[in-house]
Amino acid sequence: MLFGANEIPAQTKARVNALAERGRLPQSVLLSGGSERLREKCAMELAGAVMCERMKNGSPCGKCPACVKLKAGTHPDLIAVKPAKDRKTVSIDQVRSLVLDTLYLAPNEAENKVYLFYGAEELSPLIQNALLKTIEEPPPYAMFVFLCDQRDRLLTTVVSRVTEFSLGDVLTAERKNKEAEISDIAAAYVKALCGGNEYDIMKSTAPLAKNRALMKKAAERVILIVRDAAAFPAGEIMSGCEEAAVMLHGAYDAPALFALKEAMEKIASWAASNANENLMQTLFSSMGAELLKKRRF
Ligand SMILES: [Zn+2]
Repeated sequence: MLFGANEIPAQTKARVNALAERGRLPQSVLLSGGSERLREKCAMELAGAVMCERMKNGSPCGKCPACVKLKAGTHPDLIAVKPAKDRKTVSIDQVRSLVLDTLYLAPNEAENKVYLFYGAEELSPLIQNALLKTIEEPPPYAMFVFLCDQRDRLLTTVVSRVTEFSLGDVLTAERKNKEAEISDIAAAYVKALCGGNEYDIMKSTAPLAKNRALMKKAAERVILIVRDAAAFPAGEIMSGCEEAAVMLHGAYDAPALFALKEAMEKIASWAASNANENLMQTLFSSMGAELLKKRRF
């Protein structure tokens, strides 16, 4: 199956697989939403689906010479359009030499050739306009895949000429900053718990003052850190706060970690209700102080 990743909307999976099974994948595709990594993964799956020599039920085999070369990044018929070294954006000259000048040369090895436009949200209007005719009437062997965080960052004329596969909610810069802020607060709290000083614990909760939504998110992030700490060193770090998780793992035993998790779950559910905000912040501190008594050293 193509697009197997959990976070991809079921509707998108169904559409893309129905098309692949019938050998009817569109020639001009927009992969929007999701994370950059997910877009790249899906783009490679699409390339596999039109270049694999032994397709099975609409999925690339992963073993034929074409699949092996795709994986190694050495397939001559896969053309990656991305900024040159030391550049932030793709230049029109690159698009001319990589795309427009090679378009009518038949594929080298595969039956198809695939052009991947990484970070398509940064393509200038000049470049997008230069590609319009090409993506509207591509030669039969060509496929164009635009990887773009949000469709409205491309010209309408481009969007109307491609088939969009949405990979889910986009992680915007604003949300990324917010995520980082939550991680920072949760990690500071956990580190204070490990440091063993009540004043530091209290200080680490200061950014939560009068912000119930942030308290809930911070408590949820602490829960993730606790999970990481409990699973360390075997598990994958899910919280994004590795240093804090490792410290927590060293400072507390499993029952103490469990108690911390339960406390954070309580705070998260209280924060979701209409609990008094000052009281909530105090709870963070007092639960931390309680936990300190269980510290290993
Ligand atoms: Zn294959």
